[in-house]
Amino acid sequence: MGLLIRGGTLVLKDIVTVGDVLVDEGRVVRVGKSIESGFTKVINASGKLVIPGAVDPHVHGREPGLLHKDNFANTTKAAALGGVTTVLEMPNTLPPVDSLERLVEKREMLSSRSFVDFGLYAVLYDYADDVERRVREIVEAGAVGFKAFMAQTTGNLPTPSFKSLYLALKLSGELGFPVVFHAEDRGCVEYFTELVRGRGLEGLAAYSEARPPLCEELSIEYVASVARAAGGTAYIAHLSTATALTIVERYRRASTRIYVETTPTYLFFDYEGHSHLGALLKVNPPIRSSSNRRELWAALRSGLIDVIGSDHAPHSPYEKRGDIWEASAGVPGVQHLLSLMVHAALEGFIDLGRIVELCSEKPAKIFGLYPRKGSLLPGADADIVVVDPSGEYVVREDDLAYTHKLAPVLGMKLRGRVEKVLLRGELIVDDGELVVDRPLGTFLTRGGGGRL
Ligand SMILES: [Zn+2]
Repeated sequence: MGLLIRGGTLVLKDIVTVGDVLVDEGRVVRVGKSIESGFTKVINASGKLVIPGAVDPHVHGREPGLLHKDNFANTTKAAALGGVTTVLEMPNTLPPVDSLERLVEKREMLSSRSFVDFGLYAVLYDYADDVERRVREIVEAGAVGFKAFMAQTTGNLPTPSFKSLYLALKLSGELGFPVVFHAEDRGCVEYFTELVRGRGLEGLAAYSEARPPLCEELSIEYVASVARAAGGTAYIAHLSTATALTIVERYRRASTRIYVETTPTYLFFDYEGHSHLGALLKVNPPIRSSSNRRELWAALRSGLIDVIGSDHAPHSPYEKRGDIWEASAGVPGVQHLLSLMVHAALEGFIDLGRIVELCSEKPAKIFGLYPRKGSLLPGADADIVVVDPSGEYVVREDDLAYTHKLAPVLGMKLRGRVEKVLLRGELIVDDGELVVDRPLGTFLTRGGGGRL
């Protein structure tokens, strides 16, 4: 029988109000005031925030093939602990997901290891004459989208040819899936990296100079113009450069479907205030200046940025040591994605309702999972997070579920502690601890969210 989450502060996109949520058979049955029947169990959420589970559209789980960095069980345990109940897993594992067969293999492998629900991307590179067939069959098998790497990154996957890019974007318009871009211009990155490195510079500020805003701007301009011509949907992953948003705005005014994600790394860290973290904070594109960081917050508040994704990208301590040029790019972040944003809301940087839009609703919509995911509407999966807003804690190594305890959030003092997490009605986190001993996550297909 049903479970009632009673008297919590329900954080919905348009309204924050005290109420009850009735859950039964894994779904939300009712949301309202003073629900009196239909349940045998009660969670008292009085004084707590009740939030739809976060959907992290940008996770590099490292399995298969890169287990020295992390494994999918640990990645998704971390997600669960942080109230991220859906992860969308990137394709640059070994081997990369570049065919229907590899998508099916990865789906089978991760299905027995995932502590939260998950969807999969496939990679887009040069598929020559085969692009339409491949893209179509991978999308029909339920991939949430394609990822295109426009510059060198982990896994060294090649950039798609113009033909592959154009045809994939054309199909994206027809079939409704987004193409996700790591938008940095390869030639621009190569030129400035050689220049800055050649001067013997080191550190995070130098790294930002080596992959300057221009590289992101050029790539976004290119991707957006192809998306417009092809009638497709472009999703700019991990935008770091606030000035690039003026390009996005211009294309949106011309009715191009273009979405923008940024990450907590760009919102909470800059090379002036955090230079001491060095290569630990190396990400692509690089973290920027404090003034850029302020502009990103303003863009979040104004609605120019659509989604917060973590770009969770763990590495081993061995790979993160050394100078800024040699260390691997990427930081783990899925565990504190929602916590950092809730903290920001409690500190008054942004509205709580906007957090739900950025972390749950919008990513679920863009990737075809809404309203099953990303909402507390009757009929939705009961993926629910209960947060104690009065809780304050310092992030410690012991708190991290990652194989390697390297996250830049270590030592940060955060407000708002994730207390309980429900995945399809099952309590998977209680009192901040994982309380399931086996993975309950299931594979999600794009378009599988429209069943309400
Ligand atoms: Zn990434």
